[in-house]
Amino acid sequence: MVDVGICCREVEKRMKRLGLHMQNVKAIFISHEHSDHIKGLAVLCKKYSFPVYITSATFLNCGITVDQNLLYSFKPHEPVVIGDLKVTAFPKFHDACDPYSFVVECNNIRAGVFTDIGTPCANVVNYFKQCHAAFLEANYDELMSHLLLSHLSENNNCPKVVQKLFDKNSGGVKITVASRSSETELFSITASKKSSHQYRTSHSAQLAFSFI
Ligand SMILES: [Zn+2]
Repeated sequence: MVDVGICCREVEKRMKRLGLHMQNVKAIFISHEHSDHIKGLAVLCKKYSFPVYITSATFLNCGITVDQNLLYSFKPHEPVVIGDLKVTAFPKFHDACDPYSFVVECNNIRAGVFTDIGTPCANVVNYFKQCHAAFLEANYDELMSHLLLSHLSENNNCPKVVQKLFDKNSGGVKITVASRSSETELFSITASKKSSHQYRTSHSAQLAFSFI
């Protein structure tokens, strides 16, 4: 799980509606300390004792209590192995103390979680290019298979407007707008020869992901 911006109860409800069990969660990675990314973290950890991967600077700025035994750190660009998944964090520009984005990989299929990106720095560009799908604050790449537009402001944006705008310019890329109020459907991401020249072999493995 990447970030917990909603309360524990809401996470449980949305996971259930997606047919996912809390036991499927093996770890939580926290991108930065802003409340819309950590709101449900303390309660979720207290209830389920999930390991939390978070940098010490971010944790200090969260102002929440989590059992020290559950806390793990991570280093930029160094993958953390969680079961069959490899999670790689990279630093980005954002008005937080130590902000990161993540790429989650399973058998060479990569999905990126790129929110809160002030400026598309070299790290974002580099990791974005390697992904088969992305949960993205804005922008798109025509070589990618599928884009999920995320983190829409409640007051300053509208899902219909964003969908229309991106559909008009997507050049065939599938565009999904993640809702603020409910879980996004589950997707299975597969690589094809067309999706990127970096992935010439076909992959039988799939990486399924959703954003709640
Ligand atoms: Zn933020």
